[in-house]
Amino acid sequence: MRLTIPHMGPLHVGYARVLESYGVQLIVPPLPNQAALQLGTQHSPECACLPFKQNLGNMIQALEQGATDILMPGGFGPCRFGYYSVIQEMILRKLGFSFRMARADDPDSLRAMVATIKEISGIQSKREAYRLFFFILEKLALIDQAQKRYLALKPLERDPGATDRVLREAMGEIDHCLTYPQLFRVWLRLRRAFARLPRVRLPLLRIGLVGEIFMLLDPFSNMHIEEKLARMRVKLSKSVWLSDWLNDRFRFRPFRRNQFQLAWKRAKGYMDFPAGGESIKSVGQGLQYVREGYDGIIHIMPFTCMPELVAQTVLSRISREFQIPVMTLIYDEHTSTTGLQTRLEAFVDLLYHRRYGTSPP
Ligand code: SF4
Repeated sequence: MRLTIPHMGPLHVGYARVLESYGVQLIVPPLPNQAALQLGTQHSPECACLPFKQNLGNMIQALEQGATDILMPGGFGPCRFGYYSVIQEMILRKLGFSFRMARADDPDSLRAMVATIKEISGIQSKREAYRLFFFILEKLALIDQAQKRYLALKPLERDPGATDRVLREAMGEIDHCLTYPQLFRVWLRLRRAFARLPRVRLPLLRIGLVGEIFMLLDPFSNMHIEEKLARMRVKLSKSVWLSDWLNDRFRFRPFRRNQFQLAWKRAKGYMDFPAGGESIKSVGQGLQYVREGYDGIIHIMPFTCMPELVAQTVLSRISREFQIPVMTLIYDEHTSTTGLQTRLEAFVDLLYHRRYGTSPP
């Protein structure tokens, strides 16, 4: 078996080496890229959302590299994600690929996830499978910590690119970790490396970034929006983190509040029931950014994403009622980097004027 799993943000850094250390032959597809997007777009239904196309492109690339098995999460609920694996399998078979498709149809169930891990890795002991799964979750949590630190420090960096270098090195080190002590040592090194970075003293604009999970996690798909805004001296806060999303389901950090439930509570009066995907988080966290006095909100979503279309309507109401600028960016394969850059610059300029009465320096 040569297994492939489509990308979702930094997920592969969590599982790849760990599974390989158990003898699983993995084919990690190239990171989301233009070629994968083009391949996916070419063979997808026209109205499919961007993550579907990127995933399909990933699968084609991995099958061409020799993958024999694909593992694709499924699910249920008011979003197309649950159908992804079924439709993708049909498309790939029509294209003439032969492979086995494993579906994790209940990705919210710990027991189902552990059973999948056992099946993939050939581990006999249930205890060992739990240990392995929770170690992967801890790796992903450390990646999120590194990225949060990056978002806080990048807008203040004195030497251009220094923060990116630290993050890149950290990701490489986390990738190689196979034990808890290794992970702990990387965490200590990472804290020191970030603390040593020379910074400038500047007032920063604060923007909340909300939206669809795949877009928030994947820098290629969101066209490196975090880096672009950080270079404009904007401090970003994101509504979705992979480790929180996993913790809401598997409670590997039992003392951290369930972020989905918290967002739902915060959204009361504006969105009383989740509309699928991360829509409730976009609204709940959007309201929280208003309460915390953020300068603006950016909402990102793939074209035709149903849950985020609902959230977009509610965010317009929040923008009107609280007089806070909200910009929605809708992505598909036709979105241009230059167009995005122009819109971000205009938005930051507007926020700067509202706050300081002048243009950004
Ligand atoms: S949340 Fe939106 S973009 Fe994501 S899978 Fe569902 S419909 Fe597609």
